[in-house]
Amino acid sequence: MTNHDSAELAPASVPAYVLTRKRMRSIRMRVDSRTFEVRVSAPMTMPQWRIDAFVASRSEWITDRIAALAAVPEPLEHGPEAERARATLEEWLDILMPLWCAEFDVVPPHVSLRIMRSRWGSCRAATRRISLNLELARRGYEMTEYVLVHELAHLFELNHGPRFYALMDRHLPDWRERKARLGPL
Ligand SMILES: [Zn+2]
Repeated sequence: MTNHDSAELAPASVPAYVLTRKRMRSIRMRVDSRTFEVRVSAPMTMPQWRIDAFVASRSEWITDRIAALAAVPEPLEHGPEAERARATLEEWLDILMPLWCAEFDVVPPHVSLRIMRSRWGSCRAATRRISLNLELARRGYEMTEYVLVHELAHLFELNHGPRFYALMDRHLPDWRERKARLGPL
């Protein structure tokens, strides 16, 4: 047994959280599914130490929740989920395609949306055909935008050479950050 002062230990063991005070009777907590931020709503008058204690007592749940949210989903199979993914991507592309074709000053290429196992997208510049992986629907709008811009850049530069990256830098300056977040397939 050690005789640590528990009050001294408490701050280190309280997971970081974002607090909102509300007119409510009891404290509530959730993990934001996109940012993984811990969000706590607490009654106006609840003392800070009680909120900290509440969050600390649930640190294991928070860890599990974040792990579950971060877990790579099962690969997409043909079926209803793939069709939902297709509908989502079509909706996003209705916005993204005119925007980016205007940015690159190109006529919209033909796009096919499909399940691909080894890549996020592909581009055949000669036939002006772009394929995007349906998985992108589960990775979000920004990731879809990044891959679309990457494939559109291939209409001008076939290979991943300095001129290709210069194009990416010019049109989508935060592309490296997005690429890192997307990760490999
Ligand atoms: Zn490429």
